[in-house]
Amino acid sequence: MNKIGLTQPNLCKVTHSYPSPVISCIHKDPHASEVSRITSLSSENRHTKSFVDESTSNALKDVHIKGRTYYVTTLIIPKQDSTSSSCQAINEEEIFAIHNEQSLIPVGWIHTHPSQSCFMSSVDLHTQYSYQVMVPEAVAIVMAPTDTSRSHGFFRLSDPDGMNILRECQQTGFHTHKEPVNGTSIYEDCSSIYLNPNLRLEICDLRH
Ligand SMILES: [Zn+2]
Ligand SMILES: [Zn+2]
Repeated sequence: MNKIGLTQPNLCKVTHSYPSPVISCIHKDPHASEVSRITSLSSENRHTKSFVDESTSNALKDVHIKGRTYYVTTLIIPKQDSTSSSCQAINEEEIFAIHNEQSLIPVGWIHTHPSQSCFMSSVDLHTQYSYQVMVPEAVAIVMAPTDTSRSHGFFRLSDPDGMNILRECQQTGFHTHKEPVNGTSIYEDCSSIYLNPNLRLEICDLRH
């Protein structure tokens, strides 16, 4: 059990807003600073922002397009059922209600392998598929505090190879997946994640 309390399938949410907006949530986590260190992530998406000349001329003005970024603003910890080797979010309608209330976009999820190595299990891959099919930038964060070679990872399914394999897989529970025939991996490290110590992270703990 690691001290940042991420043994649950917690969900990272972001909004399109820039910079991160003020969001009122329940603050339950005494280690918020540690959480923010590992959940401050963004993608390489493009943020569109127009610069408007407010003069009265009717001539069309220049519009500058800048790089767009997703900022993680909120960590939602859902109610959950868990065993020593698994965890399942329940009452998911509460999560969706927060999405709607705060206009959040689910950009990924985070969970812990308390005693296992840092990798994506077959169940993890299916969970990640459900996020990534909705939001291509979605990331799975795995915390593995007892893995001496790698304590955490930012993962995503390779696209299209990994996504195609998961789309066609009908199995549940722990099982094996075939590897892509072209030699690529079914999942890969996210190359578009940045740890930003200046981001503010709100925590919505629904467990109580
Ligand atoms: Zn896992
Ligand atoms: Zn499968």
